[in-house]
Amino acid sequence: MLAGKILLPLHEKFLRRRTFRYYRDLERSQWWSAEKLRELQLAKLRDLVSVALNQTDAYADLAGVDKSWRPESLEDLQKLPLLDKAAISSHREELVNRDVPGGPIRYNTGGSSGEPLIFYFDKRRQAYDKAARMRAHQWWSVRPGDREAYIWGAPVELNKQDRLKQFRDWLTNELLLSAFDLSEQSVGWFVDRLRRFKPKCLFGYPSSITLMCQLAGRAGLDLTDLPVRVVFSTAEVLYDHQREIISQSFGGAPVVDGYGSREGGFIAHECPEGRMHITSENLIVEFIRDGRPVGPGQDGEIVVTHLDNYAMPFIRYRTDDIGGPSGETCPCGRGLEVMKVVRGRTTDFVIAPDGRWVHGLALIYVVREIPGVQQYQIIQNDIDSICVRIVIGDGFPNDGQERIIEGVAKRMGVEVRVDVEQARRIEPDRSGKYRYVISQVAHDRSTAMRLDDER
Ligand SMILES: [Zn+2]
Repeated sequence: MLAGKILLPLHEKFLRRRTFRYYRDLERSQWWSAEKLRELQLAKLRDLVSVALNQTDAYADLAGVDKSWRPESLEDLQKLPLLDKAAISSHREELVNRDVPGGPIRYNTGGSSGEPLIFYFDKRRQAYDKAARMRAHQWWSVRPGDREAYIWGAPVELNKQDRLKQFRDWLTNELLLSAFDLSEQSVGWFVDRLRRFKPKCLFGYPSSITLMCQLAGRAGLDLTDLPVRVVFSTAEVLYDHQREIISQSFGGAPVVDGYGSREGGFIAHECPEGRMHITSENLIVEFIRDGRPVGPGQDGEIVVTHLDNYAMPFIRYRTDDIGGPSGETCPCGRGLEVMKVVRGRTTDFVIAPDGRWVHGLALIYVVREIPGVQQYQIIQNDIDSICVRIVIGDGFPNDGQERIIEGVAKRMGVEVRVDVEQARRIEPDRSGKYRYVISQVAHDRSTAMRLDDER
């Protein structure tokens, strides 16, 4: 109560963000008609295009339009080019709006989306993304300041900023748990931390939360007495069997899907009627195949325009994810557009010789730290060996290979043999998706675990 009513707004105010004002606005506008929301989108799009064309050095050239050009309709957006990670990387510094209020904030991502990306955002976007998240949680009766536990897949490496965040988390009732060390031995400690913290909701990678539930179940630990009312899934595909396992473990709590990314923003979230609502006030989402938008029921690449990032134009940004428009209106009554569940993003666990289930991201972080790595794939065929395939370009350091070997060994254990293999290119799998981490060992174990559970 105290955390929600006083500390959190103070914290936001301290950061000079307008999160709470935006939150109140979004609470209202979600009930607007689709038509009125489109009007808002067009007004915002015109402002955004004006900023992109006039305040950045490169966007007008890149877009091939005059600096005075403005979209007359939302369809006019299609006259602008698609922007991919490569374009942002090669023109990054000329795409920055240096005069953005509060200054541009630099962010280095990579994560499960594979190729690392450095980009800029601003306080406005930060506040809007946060406000959109608060609104979506409110759909599930989770209010700002309610106790929330984050189950993260990767190791938590603390720097100065993170320590500040830890203090902030304590202020704002958040607990960060790294699922990096999950194993049959450590799951008890995990559950104990949750039991003491008493979270109202969980938030994190569905793969990690599912694994925690499975290990807890096998260890005979009961999670149903925790006050968890809802579980929010993010960053990966949420599979039906994961939904089932998690929900059962928490006494029938709903498991809710969310879709977003560091660079794309808070893109969509599931409502209690089971539809994925786009954050239409902040984002225009397109679904493109062969250069054209697809109709309801069809799949295309998800392309996003973040209407509230003035630091760098994320206009028609290609996410590499696949999805489609649903075309339906939701019975919940919200005017926010509905999109179909996202497919893509495949990571896997790897298993350390000491039995730990290590989330693929933990190894991805190692590889993405090294400059000049263009593509990569991490393969585990045996418990004691890892093969890292990389495609390298300019800037790959002389000790790059050793750094990968060292980093992987640090996370997996020194007894693991690490081979680094250079490749010309890495092919997607049969479904057309790139898989960054593939572990036969983890695959076999989770199949065995499921079969055990079914018996
Ligand atoms: Zn709805």
